[in-house]
Amino acid sequence: MTTTSEPGTDAGLDHFRTLVALQQPTWPDEAALGAVRDRLAASAPLVVPAAADTLRSRLAAAGRGEAFLLQGGDCAETFAEANADRIRNKIRTILQMAVILTHGASMPVVKMGRMAGQYAKPRSSDTETRDGVTLPAYRGDMINGHAFTPEARVPDPERLVQAYQISAATWNVVRAFTTGGFADLRQVHEWNRGFMRNPAYARYERTASEIDRAIRFMDACGADFDALRTVEFFVSHEALVLDYERALTRRDTRTGDAYDTSAHFLWIGERTRQLDGAHVDFLSRVANPIGVKLGPTTTPDVALELARRLNPDGVEGRLTFITRMGAGNVRDALPPLVEAVARAGVPVTWVTDPMHGNTITSASGYKTRRFDDVLDEVRGFFEVHRAAGTVPGGLHVELTGDDVTEVLGGSEEIDDAGLALRYETLVDPRLNHQQSLEMAFQVAEMLRR
Ligand code: PEP
Ligand code: MN
Repeated sequence: MTTTSEPGTDAGLDHFRTLVALQQPTWPDEAALGAVRDRLAASAPLVVPAAADTLRSRLAAAGRGEAFLLQGGDCAETFAEANADRIRNKIRTILQMAVILTHGASMPVVKMGRMAGQYAKPRSSDTETRDGVTLPAYRGDMINGHAFTPEARVPDPERLVQAYQISAATWNVVRAFTTGGFADLRQVHEWNRGFMRNPAYARYERTASEIDRAIRFMDACGADFDALRTVEFFVSHEALVLDYERALTRRDTRTGDAYDTSAHFLWIGERTRQLDGAHVDFLSRVANPIGVKLGPTTTPDVALELARRLNPDGVEGRLTFITRMGAGNVRDALPPLVEAVARAGVPVTWVTDPMHGNTITSASGYKTRRFDDVLDEVRGFFEVHRAAGTVPGGLHVELTGDDVTEVLGGSEEIDDAGLALRYETLVDPRLNHQQSLEMAFQVAEMLRR
C-alpha cells in the first residue's frame, strides 16, 4: 500500500476553504459533518495512487490519438440501484461499446465508468416546487433523499459515509466483473444473449462473430490470450462535494504527492469551474488525472487559464477537457478553444460529452434529449478536431445497461409518448442499452476515417 491516512489539516489541500465553493449543500449540523469528515479521513482509500498514474498514461495516449477514451454511466447513481444486476448491465454495455470501437477503429479503448462515486449533482435551482410546496432540491444520494418530503430533502452528512461504503461495494463488483470470466473477450456473444431482435443487436452479433473468428485463428496459431481475459477499468465522478473529496485525499508515501483516492479520475463540472473558485484550487493540488467540463460560453482565455492552472507542468494525460457545447454550437464554439490550447502547447486530452448541451423538455414535460442531436454533436466534435489537426480523444456519455426510455429516437424510435413507458432517471436522461450500442457503431465509423 502506498498511501497514508491524513488526519488534521494541510495548508495546501485546505486552501480551498478560503475560496468560494458553489453548489455545496447547507448541512444542518456542522459538528456532525466534522465527525463524518474525520471518519472518512481515517478510512481506506478506494483507489491507490499507482492506478491513477496508470490512467494518466492511458489518457496521455488518448490525447496523442493512440487510444480512445470511453467514459460512461448514470447521470446520478443511486444507493438503491447499487446492486449486482444493474452494475453488471452497465459494465456489459460499456464492454460491448468498447468492443465495437476497438473492432471498428482498430484502436485501444480506455474504459471508464461514471460509477462508484457519482452521487452528487449540481442543480440550477436550490429549491424545487411541486403543487405549491417548495422544498430543497435533490442534490444526489450523497447529500439528501429524492422523495419529495421535508425530511428526505434535509442534507444528511451520514450520507457521505454511505456514499463511500456503497462506492467501495460497487467498485468491488465492477472489479469482479472486469477481471473475472465475465469480461473474457471469448464471451462477446454471451453479452448479447437475449437482445437479438433489433438492428443494433443484430449488427453487434455480426461484429462478435468476426471477433470470434479472429480469436479462433489466433488460437490455431498458438497465440497467448492473457490480454483477452481481463479488462482494465477505471472509475470516475464529478468532484463536487469538497468535504467528501478532501477527506478521501491522501499523500502518496513514495512521492509526497496528494491523490484524491475516491476515484481514479475526477472532473470539475461546468457550473463549478470558476478560475478563482474552490473546485479549481482543490483539484489543482491533487495528482490524479482530472477533467473540466467546458460549455458553449467558455472563452479561449478561460480555457487557457484553466489549462495553465490545472496542468502547470504540461504533463500529458493530466488534464482532459470534456466539451459539452450542444449540437447547434459545437462547430462554432469549439474551434477557438481547440486552436488557442494547441497554440499554447499545453497538452490536453479532448473528449466530447454530447449529452449536456442537448437537453430539452418534451411536449409531455419530460427532460429528454434527441438521439440525433447527441450523434450530431459527436460528429461536429470530430469535424472540428480534424479541421484543426488536433485529436478527438474520447466520448463521455450518460448511459444505463437497462431498457429505459429516456432519450428520444434511435432505431427503436422512442417518441414523446414512449418516454412514459420506462423513464427512471432521477436527474438527466440516459442512452439505453441499445442506443448505447448504436452510438458506438457510429463513433467507430467516425474514428476510422
Ligand atoms: C453531469 O455530467 O451530469 C453534469 C452536470 O454536467 P455539466 O457539468 O457538464 O453540466
Ligand atoms: Mn447529467
